[in-house]
Amino acid sequence: MKKRETDMMHRFKTEEILCDPGPARMFADTKDRTFVVTLGTSTPSPNPYRLGAAGAVVVDHYPYLIDAGEGVIRAIAKAATAHGRFLVDSFAPKKLTTLFITHLHSDHIVGLSSLILNPWIFGRTEPMTIYGPEGTKELVDHLLKAHERDIHERINGAERSNDTGWRVEVHEITESRVVHTDERITVEAFFHPHGTIANLGYKFTSSDKSVVWAGDGKINEEFADACHGVDMLVTEICSQETLPNAPWGGLSEQEKEDIIWSYHLKPSELAELADREGIGRLILIHESNYSLPYRSEALFEEMRTYYSGEMVSSRDADVF
Ligand SMILES: [Zn+2]
Ligand SMILES: [Zn+2]
Repeated sequence: MKKRETDMMHRFKTEEILCDPGPARMFADTKDRTFVVTLGTSTPSPNPYRLGAAGAVVVDHYPYLIDAGEGVIRAIAKAATAHGRFLVDSFAPKKLTTLFITHLHSDHIVGLSSLILNPWIFGRTEPMTIYGPEGTKELVDHLLKAHERDIHERINGAERSNDTGWRVEVHEITESRVVHTDERITVEAFFHPHGTIANLGYKFTSSDKSVVWAGDGKINEEFADACHGVDMLVTEICSQETLPNAPWGGLSEQEKEDIIWSYHLKPSELAELADREGIGRLILIHESNYSLPYRSEALFEEMRTYYSGEMVSSRDADVF
């Protein structure tokens, strides 16, 4: 894929990098049992005010994590300490044990080492359980191998760390199905297109809320079925209007259209899905907004021209 060297490529020169979206917000009724937390709302663009792709569905003070982008532990710490420390016990290190990975693009997994190792340093004894597409086991094995000296030193050196909390049980998902059930939640995985990479969305159903957390990417029948009547859909979105300014996807406008629309979701497509399936609220994360000069509201305004329902352009540590 050809890339043109422009100021959009030199991300630190873009206006987007200066854009602080503002403080985290509490949208939920604190008496609810289930909360959705947008931990990291960034694309790969290194905005210093947004951490890498990550989220959580918290049920009865227990977190089910989704993706582990750059800075995931910092993002969890931010959410734990926001809103008067409302979620501080929900994100206790010992409870950070269950993760669902949407896909293996680096912006969704580069924080995985710290999610495995950091809570262990602070006393987690239970091994992690990680769900993800094919390749997740290999990824985890390589990471543990890379950190072998650290793990060995912490167990056998002065720290005397436990020998269980660094371990990981991986479940690779190869077909759409229910992948996890316990007394709090049922989690169903479904595949949907995102370029050429295996890409999963997850539907979380608890006693009081239903939530679809999509991977990056396009709508297919399974994605649409999962969204039918849900309270919330958390999804990426990519601007149609400003696509010609995209710093990737080819040189010509046509090339960009062909390539980027095989990977990402258009506002018109998302609006049509939400109207047709009766989704309660859209929560936008991972916003690809190529406006020049940069305006953070540009993509939300574009989405509004297609959709009049409940919708939030989310920030790190927002709670729904
Ligand atoms: Zn991706
Ligand atoms: Zn991504």
